[in-house]
Amino acid sequence: MQRYFSIRTRLILCLSLILIAAFLIITMTHYNSSRKLLRDNLIENTLPLTSDNIYSEIQKDLMSPIFVSSLMANDTFLKDWLLDGEGGVEKITKYLTEIKSKYGFFSTFVVSSQTGRYYHFDGVLKTLSREDDHDVWYYRFLEQHQEYALDVDTDQASDNSLTIFINHRLEDYEGHLIGVTGAGLNVDHINKMVHMYQKKYNRNIYFVSPDGTVQLHTETERIERDNIIKGSRLKEVAPHLLVRGKPSASYEVACDRSTLLITSRYIPEFDWFLIVEMDETMMLNHLRRNSLINFGVGLLVTLLVIGVNIVTVNYFQDRLERMATTDKLTQVKNRRAFEHDFHRFAYTMSRDGTLFSLVMFDIDHFKAVNDSSGHLFGDEVIRAVAGVSEASIRRLDVLARWGGDEFVILFRGGEAEGQIFSERLRKNIEETDFYADSSVPVEKRLPVTVTCGGAESTPGEGLDALISRADRVLYRAKSAGRNCSLWDTEGDEA
Ligand code: GH3
Ligand code: MG
Repeated sequence: MQRYFSIRTRLILCLSLILIAAFLIITMTHYNSSRKLLRDNLIENTLPLTSDNIYSEIQKDLMSPIFVSSLMANDTFLKDWLLDGEGGVEKITKYLTEIKSKYGFFSTFVVSSQTGRYYHFDGVLKTLSREDDHDVWYYRFLEQHQEYALDVDTDQASDNSLTIFINHRLEDYEGHLIGVTGAGLNVDHINKMVHMYQKKYNRNIYFVSPDGTVQLHTETERIERDNIIKGSRLKEVAPHLLVRGKPSASYEVACDRSTLLITSRYIPEFDWFLIVEMDETMMLNHLRRNSLINFGVGLLVTLLVIGVNIVTVNYFQDRLERMATTDKLTQVKNRRAFEHDFHRFAYTMSRDGTLFSLVMFDIDHFKAVNDSSGHLFGDEVIRAVAGVSEASIRRLDVLARWGGDEFVILFRGGEAEGQIFSERLRKNIEETDFYADSSVPVEKRLPVTVTCGGAESTPGEGLDALISRADRVLYRAKSAGRNCSLWDTEGDEA
């Protein structure tokens, strides 16, 4: 890794990994704890509360027919009418119609155990027979020896629509069975209510008898056909759900790729269990969406932080690089940067033979300038000489401050162009008025000139050798009287 990536890239990668890992861990932890909290809340509060609400709604609907069936079973008129030989069907029809319309039932009936006749609010419907499948309920109820029982059945009197019947034992004054009476409620009404709960709260709600048979379901084709003990989905937990003694029970069942949360509630009045199921996926979808949004925001923050980091690192890296390669006083390149450029020039020359030269120049009698105009003005002069030199070179040439009042220039070209260039540079400086904006008294203004020494680079020559050649020529030029430009000819001879 060290080989392939720079420190900057490694820093950014590291930072990104730390931030993404942190956001991932935070999101996952939050998701898991929220999921547990939601699940616990569903199992312990929400689902049982749904059961309670439905139970009280159903009670409202079913307790009234149970109560009225009990009143009918204790009605002396009904008892006497049956005991007196069931004379005058219109009397019983009138009685049943009255009760039906008074309490808003779907149907009211009386069965005589003496004659087997089924009296309906519309008249005599039929005579019951053990052979008729529709009449099984009657014989089954008698065998149960219960005071009353609920039965879901089709009502032959009303186009075979699905109905809950409350069957109540009818006894004479000595307690002998004389028939069965009761009322019927259209299941559609209860179904609608359960349907509304299912839709509103995204839950699956149905009723089963203790043997697991579905008794009430919004999908009516499942009624009396499906059995949760025999079916594959709830087979394992069904026996735990259907325990009469327990007021309620809750379970989680892994189902395909989701988890089903189930509660059951025993309803002693009907001897049924109310089952409320909820697919955890529904609830998790919401949570997952929130977690994704959280993670997305985290990712965005990560990208922003990394972006800011890249900009900051680049800025400081540039600054450091500039500081390391720039001369503080003149803002031109320093010795270090110059060395780097020399190698670049030397490499180009070795590759395609492009000639280059080095011009070294030094301010004449600078000590005297410093002495007469002050050190601060001396600094200004050094800066101004750098400025004039910078303006004199071409884009590809390189100017650097070698130290003190000494500068060097790498110049693309050989001795011939070099001589012309160094002479022009010397002249430019000579003609510059360095005192234009200064407060140095006129009598203290010494001329500012430079002396140049140039040397054309030879193949394979190092910087030190080239510099010392240029330095030697510069020394000669100084000795020759200064403010002039000399060129080395030793390189040519070699
Ligand atoms: P010569 O013509 O032989 O070059 O004479 P010179 O007086 O310029 O002598 P030399 O180049 O040896 O001296 C350079 C002087 O430049 C010495 C030092 O006091 C002065 N100097 C060096 N660096 C700075 C600087 O940054 N600012 C100022 N103001 N003076 C500097
Ligand atoms: Mg000097």
